[in-house]
Amino acid sequence: MSVLLGCIADDFTGGTDLAGMLVKSGMRTLQLIGIPTGPVPDDVDAIVIALKSRTSPVDDAVAESLAALRWLQAAGCRQFYFKYCSTFDSTAQGNIGPVTEALMQALDTGFTIACPAFPANGRTIYKGYLFVGDVPLNESGMRDHPLTPMTDANLVRVLQRQVRGKVGLIEQRVVEQGADAIGARFAALQADGCTMTIVDAVSNRDLEAIGAACAALPLVTGGSGIALGLPENFRRSGLLARGHVASALPATGGLRAVIAGSCSVATQRQVAHMRAHAPSFQIDPLQLAAGADVVGSALAWAAQRVNAGPVLIYATATPQTVRAAQEQLGVERAGSLVEEALGRIATGLVALGVGQLIVAGGETSGTVVKALGVAGLRIGAEIDPGVPWTVALTDRPEGLPLALALKSGNFGSDDFFVKAWELLS
Ligand code: ADP
Repeated sequence: MSVLLGCIADDFTGGTDLAGMLVKSGMRTLQLIGIPTGPVPDDVDAIVIALKSRTSPVDDAVAESLAALRWLQAAGCRQFYFKYCSTFDSTAQGNIGPVTEALMQALDTGFTIACPAFPANGRTIYKGYLFVGDVPLNESGMRDHPLTPMTDANLVRVLQRQVRGKVGLIEQRVVEQGADAIGARFAALQADGCTMTIVDAVSNRDLEAIGAACAALPLVTGGSGIALGLPENFRRSGLLARGHVASALPATGGLRAVIAGSCSVATQRQVAHMRAHAPSFQIDPLQLAAGADVVGSALAWAAQRVNAGPVLIYATATPQTVRAAQEQLGVERAGSLVEEALGRIATGLVALGVGQLIVAGGETSGTVVKALGVAGLRIGAEIDPGVPWTVALTDRPEGLPLALALKSGNFGSDDFFVKAWELLS
């Protein structure tokens, strides 16, 4: 069976967020990093292509999104999803509006929705106004975002500034009446000349109704919230099996290691917890700057120990220690020295036989994934909210796939590095 849902995400962690949501809703999901070149796997229900287009120039974002769409079309996808941030991160020029219109034109469709709501995370839309927790978007921290400051909470106005077509609104009083009422509003808005509409949503029930109403739309756009309602459409039409475990991953094996490059509070606690349970090796940016073979020492140290159980290699340090290194080396140099070293350590650990690897830190994860040549991730069960085990689309020397858990700095419980293995066979 071919892929059902093809998604284009405008950044990497947004892509992971959507992929996790689809897995939880019963779709086997693959996240691809950038526009893929390889063949389409035949055992996935949804593919998320993660771009880095949120703040790129409009023309670049449009061109990349169209290239992603063409690949997903060739993969046989039946419906397409443009995923952006639940705080509608964009500038007056885009990129949400222009990318949406380009995708609509390529798909030859005259109507779509825009719904970034994600009530479980405090993003709700009422009368077209986006709320972040208890305050309107323009009173939230997004007001001062360095790249995409959001100074207007009225999404109809925000989106209208970015598009040529006319933007409508479907209010919550319609949404709460269910999918048929929403569908009737789609028709009425189209008759009124609208090409897209903001849709209110204040609860998961609203998202499910919106999802059901979107069954026949070639393109939907939003945050990860509306993904909640889409899988059921495929089940209803017999295209998606009921009751299969979408989070099941292929078997992995090999040795176990943790690489921590995050200095956030949660990671500091996780490092302290694991140090009490397992051998650990600390990376010091000042030694790296002095030209010492820190990577070689770390790998020689790991080679002596990793056969006996999980090992931890970390650069994680207290704010004072980080500041001292930054004062000597500069913020950027300290960071890039550590990242580069951890990337080489990841490659070295895999060569030593590590097949199950946890990485802590957003930037650190990006570096490790690149160093390992990972083209994509099959998304599995969540270890803690927002952090699933994944299996990388890359080969290890032993042939078995590589299990990766990529953890944002502040995610996860204190015992994350110790308990995560329990979910793997
Ligand atoms: P988080 O997800 O917590 O933000 P990141 O990996 O995105 O973690 O960012 C942490 C940054 O701090 C990386 O650039 C990393 O190389 C850098 N870093 C880690 N340890 C140190 C250290 N001891 N001194 C200076 N910089 C460090």
